[in-house]
Amino acid sequence: MTAFESCDLLIIGAGPAGMAAALAAAPSGAAITIVDDNPVPGGQIWRDGPGAALPAAARRLREQLAACTNVRVCSGARVVAAPQSHTLLLEDTERAWQLQWKKLILCTGARELLLPFPGWTLPGVTGAGGLQALIKSGLPVAGERIVVAGSGPLLLAAAASARKAGAKVLRIAEQASAAAVAGFAVQLLRWPGKAAQALTLAHPGYRTSSHVLAVQGDGRVESVRLQQGGRVLQLDCDRIACGFGLLPNIQLGQLLGCRLTPDSGQPQALVVDAWQATSQADVYAAGECTGFGGSERALAQGQIAGHAAVGEINAAQKHWPERVRWQAFAQQLQRSFALHPKLKKLPQADTLVCRCEDVPYAAVAGASGWADAKLHSRCGMGACQGRVCGAATQFLLGWAPPVPRIPLVPARIGTLAAMATGPDTKGDPAH
Ligand SMILES: Cc1cc2nc3c(=O)[nH]c(=O)nc-3n(C[C@H](O)[C@H](O)[C@H](O)COP(=O)(O)OP(=O)(O)OC[C@H]3O[C@@H](n4cnc5c(N)ncnc54)[C@H](O)[C@@H]3O)c2cc1C
Repeated sequence: MTAFESCDLLIIGAGPAGMAAALAAAPSGAAITIVDDNPVPGGQIWRDGPGAALPAAARRLREQLAACTNVRVCSGARVVAAPQSHTLLLEDTERAWQLQWKKLILCTGARELLLPFPGWTLPGVTGAGGLQALIKSGLPVAGERIVVAGSGPLLLAAAASARKAGAKVLRIAEQASAAAVAGFAVQLLRWPGKAAQALTLAHPGYRTSSHVLAVQGDGRVESVRLQQGGRVLQLDCDRIACGFGLLPNIQLGQLLGCRLTPDSGQPQALVVDAWQATSQADVYAAGECTGFGGSERALAQGQIAGHAAVGEINAAQKHWPERVRWQAFAQQLQRSFALHPKLKKLPQADTLVCRCEDVPYAAVAGASGWADAKLHSRCGMGACQGRVCGAATQFLLGWAPPVPRIPLVPARIGTLAAMATGPDTKGDPAH
């Protein structure tokens, strides 16, 4: 039988933005629920596991959250659908339930942009943040030779995690030019904490104007071919971690009808106003679903959204200067690590673009758009529902990514059946 619950404020995502939003709103006494699909709060940056020690600030936030008696944290739970206005259908390993909310804050974060290149489906190839997450969860990499590639500061963070776990990082291949990276480094002086952090992450194998061309191996990664300025080189390695920056997780916002930033080359994000309110009444958004820009920006936005959602306008306004400061950092990041158009040439005709449905690049390259490709090749119709190939084809071919449909994630039959019942039927299947 479907359970029906309600709360004053529902927060989806317990990363820095979601935690900050809950802590800002909690003193109001509102009944708050946070839902997150990870086992514990922390989001992408503050992950627990045998290979990770949480920073003190993250531990404090978690303890503060646990001490709030009016905040209920539902970990390991995911949003499946929005069956009616102000209601979400949720599922965890045990049950499905509908949760009615008065105000909603979307803090769904970001994921990595993965671009297809020959060999990218071989075991041993992961995203850069993906490898970092695996290491934090206990993946043993000691003694392995690892190449990190793609774009953005996450490459340095991933390489640092790999080295700390005993791997040998042979190369960090950054696609941005030396001028762009040097410009970013100079600008970092405006955010001294970030500049200091960058120094600790410096690595002798860091190269600019460098990108992956192909990965080779018999059954798993054995070597990688890299473009390094004007020349091509091959490195023998055991793993390659490759991520081309971050993409805001906008699917739930889109499903709820929230307006997106224009499709102008930059990844699309949820549009918010000064109070972090989206275009939909009672729906706010904070953190990387509104554009990528780091945990500090996510924390500032989360605080503003949390206060605003419970009507504390003055308290929300106090965090505006902080947000301005970190928004400038985000803009600098986006400018400096913009992807070079030559990366559109990465896939070959037989490179799989949709790895869920085994669809090669040749099968979609001539299509007129996403719907055409889907109809003729099943591209995007697998388990990830276009989360990976939709973003890749947007970059490679300029297609607008698929509009999300329910269920947002693969769900149990029982959960889908729960969608058919409403609170007025009290979950009785006979109604
Ligand atoms: C793989 C990866 C690794 C990263 N590592 C670092 C790093 O080492 N250092 C760094 O500075 N930055 C890192 N980042 C960037 C990082 O995302 C941000 O700096 C910061 O964590 C953003 O905070 P946030 O609260 O906006 O989102 P996130 O931290 O991404 O938190 C969002 C949370 O919402 C959950 N969620 C999303 N959708 C749903 C849904 N429908 N139902 C339930 N739960 C949902 C997610 O699982 C996640 O727990 C990483 C990003 C990624 C993608």
